[in-house]
Amino acid sequence: MKIPDYFGSMVFDDRVMRSVLSSDIYHSLKRTINQNATLNIEVANAVADAMKKWAVENGATHFTHWFQPLTGITAEKHDSFITRAPDGRVIMEFSGKELIQGEPDASSFPSGGLRATFEARGYTAWDPTSYAFIKDNTLCIPTAFCSYGGEALDKKTPLLRSMEALNRQALRILKLFGNTEVKCVHPCVGPEQEYFLIDKKLYDERMDLRFTGRTLIGAKAPKGQEMSDHYAGTIKPRVAAYMAELDEELWKLGIFAKTEHNETAPSQHELAPIYTTCNIAADHNQLTMEIMQKVAARHGLVCLLHEKPFEGVNGSGKHNNWSMQTDNGTNLLSPGKTPYENAQFLLFLCAVIQAVDDYQELLRISVATAGNDLRLGGHEAPPAIISIFLGDELTEILNAIETDTPYCGAEKELIKLGAHVLPRFPRDTTDRNRTSPFAFTGNKFEFRMLGSSNSIACANIMLNSAVADTLRIFADELEGCTDFESALHELIRKTIHEHKRIIFNGNGYDDAWVREATEKRGLANLPTTPDAFAHLCDEKNVAMLARHKVFSETELRSRYEINLNRYCAAVNTEAQTMSAMLRRQVLPAVEGYVSELSSAFAARKAVLPELKCSYETKTVLRLTELTDGIYENVEKLDRAISEQCGGTFECACYMRDKVLPLMNTLRTLCDEAETVTAEKYWPFPTYEKLLFSV
Ligand code: ADP
Ligand code: MG
Repeated sequence: MKIPDYFGSMVFDDRVMRSVLSSDIYHSLKRTINQNATLNIEVANAVADAMKKWAVENGATHFTHWFQPLTGITAEKHDSFITRAPDGRVIMEFSGKELIQGEPDASSFPSGGLRATFEARGYTAWDPTSYAFIKDNTLCIPTAFCSYGGEALDKKTPLLRSMEALNRQALRILKLFGNTEVKCVHPCVGPEQEYFLIDKKLYDERMDLRFTGRTLIGAKAPKGQEMSDHYAGTIKPRVAAYMAELDEELWKLGIFAKTEHNETAPSQHELAPIYTTCNIAADHNQLTMEIMQKVAARHGLVCLLHEKPFEGVNGSGKHNNWSMQTDNGTNLLSPGKTPYENAQFLLFLCAVIQAVDDYQELLRISVATAGNDLRLGGHEAPPAIISIFLGDELTEILNAIETDTPYCGAEKELIKLGAHVLPRFPRDTTDRNRTSPFAFTGNKFEFRMLGSSNSIACANIMLNSAVADTLRIFADELEGCTDFESALHELIRKTIHEHKRIIFNGNGYDDAWVREATEKRGLANLPTTPDAFAHLCDEKNVAMLARHKVFSETELRSRYEINLNRYCAAVNTEAQTMSAMLRRQVLPAVEGYVSELSSAFAARKAVLPELKCSYETKTVLRLTELTDGIYENVEKLDRAISEQCGGTFECACYMRDKVLPLMNTLRTLCDEAETVTAEKYWPFPTYEKLLFSV
């Protein structure tokens, strides 16, 4: 079958709606989708009925409200369409009420204290802006998930709220530029997703991969990524077959999977879709991660989405390409063709600059997880300091505006906004600064700090809200002025002056940058998840998010609890797993080898007492030192896990300061033991096998 024949075949999209709904119903539904109009129950019933018919024709037997609780993955509870007819036969039914609202038993999802136990129910509410789809014979209805008090218990609700905030404020700005046709501005996102593919049989043999998603121990393979021979290299047949099937599955779901290539590390790959509206991009990315894992299983593979599955080679991230687009297709981050459009572009650009500077901590928090801590700050991913890369040309233009000096570009004259055409900034693909956490790439910003397993909702909630807030400040200032052009020029000049500290075009991996950023520029350096979350409920953050109705203070506090608890749980699971592997697998294995060496030594000495047997003696000696060290530290680790106490924040710091360092010590000892022990004794697959066998 040709791609256009099956693309979106599993989606109840606009094409399907148009063909199966009456014109009245279709237009009411469109009003709900585009203008947030409330949907009456007759319309809902008609849509539900049409949806059910379409779904049943396409093989669905069940339906589910598909939502994104704060566990990091999606959740679904399946109900079948079957109902008993009065005469005892079975009929397939699906009502408008069932479409609009669901009541999953929500007591086991994290709520951070939002739901008292006596009110354990939450409810899911249909998000008509994201199309329903069929997955595994189930009609999936994208929904938001809230408590009965209306508090958000998921990632979609605040994302939708942040998009609304951005829309409101951006429209105010566009109006000032005389742009009144635009009805809506939405953030658009294209997330580039990195992942590892490894063999399922090898994966099954490693407790750490199965329980934690990463290898907790493992000596480096003789070869890593030093030769740079994997990035965009030829795709091996097994991987190519996987990618082909993955594309097909994603296309059926209407996901525009576009580019697939090998990444830097051995066995590492990337998938990028064509960008779309933020909320749909977030749903699609969750689906993509799920399908990636499912398709891998069919190929005897496992898709690892952890941020740092292997030491010594790059970890995996997710690049969040973000821009703002109007309903008539204008990208507000694209430099315009006329001087006036350019002034508008510069104002939106400045809004992003100020937002990122003012809310650095929120952006850092939005990507903070135990897994991502292992990646940020290594020499492979942006540091835990937020800065913006603009490129030399744009930076020079901003400098010229700030200091009222001639711009050294083609024309070499003073830039007066509204009078000069700015050069079009080339979308430079050759000289990309890959070390910047937040880079302008011609007509969009690329936020590069996200971890590969993160939902992109979190980062976009903060980004949309922060930019909305700056646009609000700008609009407040400009709406009241008498001379718009001078006020605009002054506002842009002032913004550049006050926020240029966040702009950094140099090498973000350089140690000198950390010093400059923190000591000279006063930028926040928050290396770990507890460091970052300590700032979530800072007064200015609470005020900003509450002002735009993205998060109430109560909701924010619950997220603080949930995320720090998740951090503690992640480290705790890793520590328990490590202890089990060392006690039950590594120590006995090394012991076996030592005893073989010892008997060999004894046997030889018995025959020829003058032999030195230095291999046996030295190896036995070194391995015994190592096993002693492992034993002592694993005892300490077990004690450390059992002693954790205190509030959530104290517990997270304890995990970071007491548990993780012990795990690092153990890893060093264990990895050395691995290199000295005979291969046949080693109890699970090594890095050589894991990274080079697919
Ligand atoms: P690369 O970063 O590898 O050069 P691109 O810049 O073409 O590749 O695209 C990377 C991702 O950015 C893709 O998902 C693409 O759809 C997305 N993207 C491109 N333009 C925009 C835009 N204006 N807004 C948001 N995302 C975009
Ligand atoms: Mg990119």
